[in-house]
Order: sequence, then C-alpha cells, then structure tokens
Amino acid sequence: MIREISLSDISDGKTYELNDMVKADTGGCAGCHKCCTGMGSSIILDPYDVWQIKEELNMSFQQLLSEGYIELNMVDGLILPNLRMNEKERCSFLNEEGRCSIHKVRPGICRIFPLGRVYDGKDFKYFLQKDQCAKESRSKIKVKKWIDTANVTENHRFISQWHYFVRWVGDRNIELKNTGRGECINDIAMYVLNEFFVADIYKEEQRAVADDGLFYMLVINKIDVARKAIEGLS
Ligand code: SF4
Ligand code: SF4
Repeated sequence: MIREISLSDISDGKTYELNDMVKADTGGCAGCHKCCTGMGSSIILDPYDVWQIKEELNMSFQQLLSEGYIELNMVDGLILPNLRMNEKERCSFLNEEGRCSIHKVRPGICRIFPLGRVYDGKDFKYFLQKDQCAKESRSKIKVKKWIDTANVTENHRFISQWHYFVRWVGDRNIELKNTGRGECINDIAMYVLNEFFVADIYKEEQRAVADDGLFYMLVINKIDVARKAIEGLS
C-alpha cells in the first residue's frame, strides 16, 4: 500500500540503501512472531511474492485463495492480494510452533521487516520502522545482508517498476473517477489481477529455464504492455 505519511513519524528519520548499515538485525527473533500477527490486510503481495509461494506450494492462485492463505482487497484502485490473518489474527502461514512455514519464500514485506520501503518516483530506499519490532536491542547489519534476497539489484529494479506502475494506475483511476469516466475502473483492476497474479508469467516451454532474472524481465515487459492496454481500456 502506498501511504502519504511523514517519514519522521514512523522511522528513525533516516533512509538506507543496500550497502548501508542499519540497526535491524534481530538475531533470529528468538521465538518471537509478533510481526506475523495482527497485521490485518497490510502485508500486500507483489507478483514475485505470489509466484514464489505458488511454486513452493505447487498451488494455483485460486488454490491459495480457496485454502485461505491469501485474500483480495482493493488498494489504490487495484485489486491486490495480501496475506490473510486467521480468526486468531495469526498469519495463515504461521505454524503451531510460531515459525513461518514458508520462510524460504516469505514475501518481501516479511523479509525486510523491521525495515520498510519509501518510494520516490521510480526508485525507493529503505527506512527503519519505529516501535514495530518487539526486539529493541538489535545489532547493526548491512541492508543487503538483512533482506536476504537473491539477485538483489534486479529485485530492486522490479520492485521500483511494479510500485511505479501501481501508483500510475491508482492516479489514473482517480482521474477517471473525477472526470466521470470511472466505469472502466473495475475492468482495469480485473485485468491487472489476472495478468500479474492469476495467469502464469511463464509460458509452459519457459518453465525449464525459469529463474528470478527471467521472471523480473517478463514482468517488467508485461508492465509496458499493460500500460498500453489500460490506456486502451480507458
Ligand atoms: S509469511 Fe511468514 S514471515 Fe510473513 S507474516 Fe506470515 S508467517 Fe510471518
Ligand atoms: S517483531 Fe521483530 S523480533 Fe519479533 S518476529 Fe518480528 S522481526 Fe522478529
């Protein structure tokens, strides 16, 4: 979710890049799972998060929904998936031992916590969330090491482009609504949901060479196609 808030209210006032040191290292969290509970619908997933979980669990997008792992919500004029909290307000991937059952493929928001992302145009930096992590005595660690993400440069580019696209669609929807042309907003939301989350990003013949780099490239190409299609829809 893109929120317009003052960084100084929610952080230590600084921003961080991949090679900066930041006081984020929880040392393994020592049995804590506070940030996996009570998160409502705030852990919004991007296409990479969903693809990773689909592959790991060998499930389709529809199965993730029907099994109650994820749910859909309207965010910035788009229908986007988020992790679903169960009736006890625990993430549906949190196991009985209080550990993440999909740790290897946990979503980006989980991966970087207690860091968050602050977007500026087509780029973003990290910030350290204030008063959110239960462990106060954290050690300094390089951002790149903490976020533990493969192909981190390509991942950064993908996330920047995805969020810029989401922002563009959101702004466009507001403009459509304000000019009395809002009837196509639902079509746009369904188009984005189907193209980037429901449908396979790969063609069947590409599966044998499927990796993160190819995934990012295909999604970024899809964003260009989607922009033109959305302009056509409206
Ligand atoms: S996916 Fe894993 S790390 Fe993320 S909130 Fe759920 S249990 Fe916690
Ligand atoms: S709140 Fe902090 S210490 Fe607790 S699980 Fe989350 S990151 Fe780890």
